[in-house]
Amino acid sequence: MRLQDKSFELFIPEKKIQAAIRRVAGEINRDYHDRNPLFVGVLNGAFMFAADLMKNMAIPCEITFVRVQSYAGTQRSGQVKTLIGLEHDIRQRHVILLEDIVDSGFTVQHIQQQLQSANPASIEVATLLFKPEALAVPTTLRYVGIRIPNQFVVGYGLDYNGQGRNLRDIYQLKDTSSR
Ligand code: 5GP
Ligand code: MG
Repeated sequence: MRLQDKSFELFIPEKKIQAAIRRVAGEINRDYHDRNPLFVGVLNGAFMFAADLMKNMAIPCEITFVRVQSYAGTQRSGQVKTLIGLEHDIRQRHVILLEDIVDSGFTVQHIQQQLQSANPASIEVATLLFKPEALAVPTTLRYVGIRIPNQFVVGYGLDYNGQGRNLRDIYQLKDTSSR
């Protein structure tokens, strides 16, 4: 599979993604049955995960979306991210942040800190993918769909230069030496 100048190979098939989402949804259905959680999806990457997770929620719940704006820094990990688009009142709400992927953990940490200042009752994170080897800041991820090695992936909401978000499966960058 090609996107622009890069080759990708199938990594996580749709069936496995959906099974992981059903498991995570089951855990949230159990843990939050009496708490009317407010899901906060992080655009753009988490839109597909958010949609499929919601289809598996069997308890009262709500959803809203935010976006993070990265300011150009010297390094990806040094970027300052500002949270934009939070229109929902989250005071006294049980918030579950929905992320497509946690890599260094900086994004999730920043969003959590900024949401915290709006006084929610609680904040937990649900991420579809997690790269434990890349984690650079202490982060508590309450719900993790699939742990993956420290490799670049696309598909199922995740992009390469804006492309590939539409793919139903997740692909990994092909080792250029084996092309
Ligand atoms: P972190 O702040 O945890 O390092 O980075 C998280 C963000 O970086 C994700 O929300 C995602 O936008 C991007 N990211 C990290 N790893 C990947 C990856 O393997 N593929 C894609 N497409 N985006 C990634
Ligand atoms: Mg993201």
